[in-house]
Amino acid sequence: MDSVLLKAQELSYSYHTLNGETPALDRVSFCLYRKEFLAIVGPSGCGKSTLLQALGGLDAPTSGKVLLEGQDLYALPDAALARLRRTRLGFVFQAFHLLPEYTVRDNILLPLLLDKREPDEEYLALLTRQLGLTALLQRQPTQLSGGQQQRAAIARALITRPAVVLADEPTGNLDHQNSVEVFRLLREAAAQQHQTVVYVTHDQGLAAQADRVLRMQDGRIEEA
Ligand code: ADP
Ligand code: MG
Repeated sequence: MDSVLLKAQELSYSYHTLNGETPALDRVSFCLYRKEFLAIVGPSGCGKSTLLQALGGLDAPTSGKVLLEGQDLYALPDAALARLRRTRLGFVFQAFHLLPEYTVRDNILLPLLLDKREPDEEYLALLTRQLGLTALLQRQPTQLSGGQQQRAAIARALITRPAVVLADEPTGNLDHQNSVEVFRLLREAAAQQHQTVVYVTHDQGLAAQADRVLRMQDGRIEEA
């Protein structure tokens, strides 16, 4: 049985700037296993966000491949890749990106509504209970604390039951106590839903609680 869900093969990436090329990824290879909670750590500028964007089908690497369930993401036509991003991937970013004019409930259901899929009320109830959002569903995002907003963003990422959740420093805007809480809730929700998560952070303490840690330095990766 192949338990590899996603494979990064020799990923390299360079940004083109006025001053020339800025290398950001240098032949990064690793496997992500089903149901794994993988942390990626490393100092600012080492390439974590660039890597996550490549894994998430948001930006093609300069060279190398990303295989999700054996499918080469960047070999897909644009429309198919966009559809795969909406249905198979969940994203959580440092900025919560909730829509202020919608309720928390509608924000969470948005990825389904955009895809004309029926909301699964039972799953919504389960997820929001796990993330401590049940009493907050009818509020607007501006009526939530930072930690609560990020928990809503996590529910939105999980509601589609994606193959992989990609989280880029989701606690970067939160104080320590809220960071620990948000991390714990994402970890527990992911485990209970049998979700696979890639969690980027520069917080070594949080990373230590993951199933496995990959350390990045100067665009390269090494297993910790
Ligand atoms: P991290 O998320 O680990 O802080 P990034 O992936 O954002 O690192 O950045 C990796 C490298 O690429 C850094 O040297 C950074 O300055 C550079 N970089 C990131 N985004 C851009 C961009 N849009 N244009 C040019 N260089 C960039
Ligand atoms: Mg970053």
